[in-house]
Amino acid sequence: NLSDKIDKALHILKGHGKITEVNVADTLKEVRRALLDADVNFKIAKEFTNSVKEKALGQKVLTSLQPGQLLVKIMRDEMAALMGSKAADISLQGNPAVVLIAGLQGSGKTTFSAKLANFLKRKKGRNPMLVAADVYRPAAIDQLKVLGEQIQVPVFAIEGNKNPVEIAQKGIEHAKTLGHNVVIVDTAGRLSVDQEMMDEIARIHRAVKPSETLFVVDAMTGQDAVNTAKAFNEVLDFDGVVLTKLDGDTRGGAALTIKATVNKPIKFVGTGEKMDAIDIFHPDRMADRILGMGDVVSLVERAQEQYNEEEARRLNKKIATNKFDFEDFFSQIQQIKKMGNVKDLMGMLPGMNKVMKNIDIDENAFKHIEAIIQSMTPQERRNPEILNGSRKKRIAMGSGRDISEVNKLIKQFEDMKKVMKIMQSGGPRGLTGLMRG
Ligand code: GDP
Ligand code: MG
Repeated sequence: NLSDKIDKALHILKGHGKITEVNVADTLKEVRRALLDADVNFKIAKEFTNSVKEKALGQKVLTSLQPGQLLVKIMRDEMAALMGSKAADISLQGNPAVVLIAGLQGSGKTTFSAKLANFLKRKKGRNPMLVAADVYRPAAIDQLKVLGEQIQVPVFAIEGNKNPVEIAQKGIEHAKTLGHNVVIVDTAGRLSVDQEMMDEIARIHRAVKPSETLFVVDAMTGQDAVNTAKAFNEVLDFDGVVLTKLDGDTRGGAALTIKATVNKPIKFVGTGEKMDAIDIFHPDRMADRILGMGDVVSLVERAQEQYNEEEARRLNKKIATNKFDFEDFFSQIQQIKKMGNVKDLMGMLPGMNKVMKNIDIDENAFKHIEAIIQSMTPQERRNPEILNGSRKKRIAMGSGRDISEVNKLIKQFEDMKKVMKIMQSGGPRGLTGLMRG
């Protein structure tokens, strides 16, 4: 799938210390291919990779991170922007507010209508009513009634009536008299776009004047979804898109293309057949999903916030010249603590992960290490080689730790220095290495 392919493309960058024009171009060529395979429109895939390229070139990468990670972050931000940047709300104006649901047959309109009613009732304190305006499929009314029963929302229908405009209008009047403040009108769809369906939905739209018109589309239909969205948008000028069946195998190529094509936000996603399988659409989370690397992205962001590039360079130099001392160690620990979850972040420090992996890391372990280092004199911290027996004993007393613990820390520190040096000459081992094991 798309996420695996992008992941593979990023491997091209592995081992490079800096993002260069050549390796970015190669990587993005693969990313573009992956996007096309996932049914992202050609022009959009091209524009996307071009803008990522522009942003990525020349950007220096944190010394301790792999360039692929930064590229992922750039891609993620660009993708989110392509999908609208932030979550879009629906408009519920009027009393009752009317929400019109349109889309092809089987896209998930009826299911979504009920999910939305449930969402508005449970999460927004609304008092919704559903209207069954699909007059073609005999089972359509029953389907909505069964769902309405499940979520305890009344369903308005007129058995035998074949005029969806009349049903919708009567439904709204009925809702008004019963004090419902939202009416959701479920309509009929065809298997493909045709004039009759478009005329009908346009007539309903004119008659009920919805404050929100939502176009429902099956995420698994890829490029077709985009063409359908275009056709409906020309007729309805809808307010937002609902992307259903995102729980399936799809990785959301349609999500990337739809917003860019019709310039309407995706507002909700459907992630299952159950009534609570509805989510507000968040462009950034969708981008994470497409890239399949949510955790990595947030780790990179945290590292960028907290990890000072200058400091990293200074430390690397000290490691290279074997001058890394307890003061540096202490300052690294402070950095790690600032960043949050220690285990996750270990891998960001050059060489640290290898050594620390074998040590039981918890915040308390740091407390003891800090106590020991703080009991050293500045001279001892800068020149660990002078730590002899009597000094160690004094440090143990001062920190309230056992002498064996002091010895262990010094031994680990020396081991760590060695490994750091080796890691450094073999290139930094960053997040990816740690997370992939
Ligand atoms: P309509 O013809 O547009 O009204 O579509 P329906 O609401 O009847 O849905 C068609 C089929 O898709 C039904 O079997 C639904 O249970 C299923 N469906 C709808 N939304 C989702 C979803 O988000 N995920 C999954 N897996 N199935 C869905
Ligand atoms: Mg239906």
